Amino acid sequence: MYRIRLHGRGGQGMKTASRILGTAFFIEGFEVQDAQRYGAERRGAPIFAYVRAGREPINERGVINNPDLVVVADDTLVPIPAAGVMQGITEGTVLLIDSAIAPEEWQQRLNAPGPVIILPASQRRDASEAAYLGTECAGATAGLIDIISRSALEEAIRQELSLMSLKVVEENLKFALAAYDKMADHAGIVSEQDGMPARTYEPPNWIDVPTDDVSVSGPAIYSGATSVKVRTGLWRVMRPVIDHERCNRCTWVCGSFCPDGAINVGEDGYPQIDLDHCKGCMICVAQCPPHAIEAIAEKDAAALEREGEPA
Ligand code: SF4
Ligand code: SF4
Repeated sequence: MYRIRLHGRGGQGMKTASRILGTAFFIEGFEVQDAQRYGAERRGAPIFAYVRAGREPINERGVINNPDLVVVADDTLVPIPAAGVMQGITEGTVLLIDSAIAPEEWQQRLNAPGPVIILPASQRRDASEAAYLGTECAGATAGLIDIISRSALEEAIRQELSLMSLKVVEENLKFALAAYDKMADHAGIVSEQDGMPARTYEPPNWIDVPTDDVSVSGPAIYSGATSVKVRTGLWRVMRPVIDHERCNRCTWVCGSFCPDGAINVGEDGYPQIDLDHCKGCMICVAQCPPHAIEAIAEKDAAALEREGEPA
């Protein structure tokens, strides 16, 4: 059985990638599970998806704890413990990361027990190409698993994107097939592991651990007024920046539309964005009447800040 876990941020197409991979495996005659996990938050939040593909009926359920392949669409997720990128990785796990950083450096940084392969998509991607990241990751993943043929990948993309225009489908195919071809040197590096047949299943020796009442032992989420401690600003890939020359201080507009209540009114009457809690959904950019809010890439904003210029 192949066990693949895909990590990305809401909006980067990891759900689509897992569906494409599931369909491609199915076309190749496999039994398949593909599922996605995300919380209540949306664009920018860490999410993951997973795919199991086996030649026999699949008895395993739930999230994949020991993946054969981990695909990371956004390398800023790797150091975030809550994203769980490194969870359950063994020497048999291949890491595929979309990154501008060399694989040797990732290997050293992560002390990764298995091989690290780079999908150099983000090095040359401009904003207009970011929409193809999901299919690109699906293509690269299929390329690493030489069980999936190029034609099965193409058919799976056509099926999964059938509600989109032909032009969009063709663009997605272009990026996905290019990523598939880029992985030619590593084709077959992800190996098929044994499944878990139900007839050989042995229940573990469960131990009953007494616990306190949930009001005492539960995590902080059960306590009131803790959401401010969750720095959703860490999810942001795009930053809203207000141009005071254009802003006419109608703060009830942007302030009301911000779903996270991250826009406050400063003493000068201008809106102020709480960057610790702005998750970068860009709703304020779309709603501002005089277009006084610009969206800039977080990495560019961080570079400006390092140079001492306000972002
Ligand atoms: S909606 Fe636009 S113009 Fe109005 S206060 Fe917000 S940023 Fe300024
Ligand atoms: S400030 Fe703008 S980009 Fe940030 S969370 Fe609010 S609406 Fe979204």
